[in-house]
Amino acid sequence: MMRSDILYFSENILNWYAVHKRDLPWRAEGCDPYRVVVSEIMLQQTQVPRVIEKYTEFLGKFPTIEGLARASREDVIRAWCGLGYNRRALMLQNFAQEVVQLYEGKIPDNPKVLMILSGVGTYTAGSIASFAFNKPEPAIDVNLRRIYMRFFYGRDQGLPMAKEEEKKLYVLVKSSIPVDKSRDLHNALMDFGSLICLREKPLCRECVLQKQCGFFPLYAVKKEKVLFVREKRVEKGVREKGKHVPNRIFRGRIVEFVRKNASRSLSIDDFGMIIKKDFKGEEREWLLGLCEKLRKEGLIDFVLVRGLITFTFR
Ligand code: SF4
Repeated sequence: MMRSDILYFSENILNWYAVHKRDLPWRAEGCDPYRVVVSEIMLQQTQVPRVIEKYTEFLGKFPTIEGLARASREDVIRAWCGLGYNRRALMLQNFAQEVVQLYEGKIPDNPKVLMILSGVGTYTAGSIASFAFNKPEPAIDVNLRRIYMRFFYGRDQGLPMAKEEEKKLYVLVKSSIPVDKSRDLHNALMDFGSLICLREKPLCRECVLQKQCGFFPLYAVKKEKVLFVREKRVEKGVREKGKHVPNRIFRGRIVEFVRKNASRSLSIDDFGMIIKKDFKGEEREWLLGLCEKLRKEGLIDFVLVRGLITFTFR
């Protein structure tokens, strides 16, 4: 890859960001590592507008990492209400407990150390290092991958990618981070991926990278329909009122039910009717399977005695 292409890319993205950056609450508050971690975990699998609503509320309840580490699981899961994927709430609390126990409440800045902690994979480690500590560590999510692959390779790359390609991409992203600008560049790429280089129908005609983007010539000659057709992944789930509903939705309903009805006993069929609009007796096994999985993940607990189920938080 030519150094001049990399420079052109970073400079133009940063100039674009200086004018168009989004006003997000976790940016306005400086770069307190705890707050960065909370926002990053929330932003995994939840849309920005929903995170904006919940972020301040959550930090109002748990303003410090020590406070989150000490809180009851029940309170943390309750505070997570509305964000979905409740396991993240527990992972965040486990992370807080580990940081308090092992690092006296100071979040490490080294990605390799971060990755030993609960809930932190390659992306989250890079994002904490770059957003909280401004370290030149790539945080490669789908948006960032899409922008780099389009610009540098002229390809609209989805997942999965071969290991070798992942490595090459990592090196490329790292080399594109200007000195002391890791935080800005990552923020810029997040906004650019959400506002310009969109997954479907990117706004190539108004893009500041257009002149050297490897993807632009393709975009200019082919029809969008041809370029951006994607196979939809069908999530595991069951039919409800004639529509396919992912298990993730039912899991969310179960946790929501327990939030409001801890210690209430009811028959499995009554419980089933609350969780699924057209629940039938033959779906008991499926329903109990979901509950069992939530129990294994530490989100809920329950006892089943003579057909009556009683829930509690762990
Ligand atoms: S020209 Fe189009 S594909 Fe290339 S970076 Fe800009 S928006 Fe993305």
